Amino acid sequence: MAMTAGTPDAALVADLVTANRILYNEGIVDGFGHISVRHDKQPSHFLLARSMAPGLVTAADIMEFDRDGEAVEPQGRTPYLERFIQSEIYKTRPDVQSVVHSHSPSVIPFGVVARRLQPIYHMSSFLGSGVPVFEIRDTGGPATDMLIRNPALGAALARALGLSSVALLRGHGNIVVGGSIREAVFRAVYTEVNARLATEALRLGDGQVSFLNEAEAAAATATNQAQIGRAWDLWKAKALDASG
Ligand SMILES: [Zn+2]
Repeated sequence: MAMTAGTPDAALVADLVTANRILYNEGIVDGFGHISVRHDKQPSHFLLARSMAPGLVTAADIMEFDRDGEAVEPQGRTPYLERFIQSEIYKTRPDVQSVVHSHSPSVIPFGVVARRLQPIYHMSSFLGSGVPVFEIRDTGGPATDMLIRNPALGAALARALGLSSVALLRGHGNIVVGGSIREAVFRAVYTEVNARLATEALRLGDGQVSFLNEAEAAAATATNQAQIGRAWDLWKAKALDASG
């Protein structure tokens, strides 16, 4: 069994708990889905709740995992089946500090049609780096249960993500990465909003929609970097209100 990398910073764990609550409160996750963060003492390790509904996560539920997604000191807690999504992305993307996996509903249609998810407005400009669709049949064959349940599927998904911020999993959900917990949450929320608005615009415009071009997307992303804390503060206050 892997050695623990030491006790993570309490503020990091608290932020991870808050992120779980926010993602639930904003309708990004329901009983399913998860968010992880790199371990601050050992960057090859990461922190992720035990297998449970994200809206109920507390600090005691946060577990440590090694680079291969194996639990360090599980203490009888059951890990998420799809933790290999996180482990394989942390291996291949040193810039990524946090990974969200969700089945956020408005995004699902874009994983099963030829049309790609593109940024419809400035808040979702991070989608301008491209949103690949992961086809599980290419690695897992024609009869999987659609879940990323082993390292090989996780590695194939990480390859499909490439350098993008978001990737869709056909017939399943999406993954969103960020340079911090706050950025990953921001992107997960606005990926869902973008999908909803894009669906509406495509309907109104009979499929003819002006999305942000690459230069606009890059400029808006640079501007938004300074505003992420503002959204986090609001969502955090709402989530804490909602959970009493
Ligand atoms: Zn899933």
